[in-house]
Amino acid sequence: MTLFEKIATHEIPARIVCETADFIAFHDVNPQAPVHILIVPKRPIPRLAEAAPGDADLLGRMLLASGKIAADAGLAAGGYRLVINNGRDAGETVPHLHLHLLGGRPLQWPPG
Ligand code: AMP
Repeated sequence: MTLFEKIATHEIPARIVCETADFIAFHDVNPQAPVHILIVPKRPIPRLAEAAPGDADLLGRMLLASGKIAADAGLAAGGYRLVINNGRDAGETVPHLHLHLLGGRPLQWPPG
């Protein structure tokens, strides 16, 4: 099982902010911004490049949910950024697809 599957099955504790039948959102343990939440499919898709056409509905619902998760975290006015790190050069460390939701401070562009 991946680390995030263990969080999804509550085997490893996390500060969960949202959970549905097929995805879960929780605070990143090493936040890079005042708000840093991970939105993760319970099914272990390794990374975005390996998602299949059958994952489109799930991925779409995760994207749509990010707006409410951000608003619930107080980011509606200031805005937020979604990031997916796909592969080594992007900084992927956990091979289980996840959206990073970052906000609560001005974020630089381009990212490093
Ligand atoms: P990435 O580098 O894009 O693969 O992102 C993996 C993220 O998972 C990093 O931001 C880590 O800080 C985060 N992370 C690792 N272990 C945990 C954990 N047990 N609970 C919450 N977040 C975690």
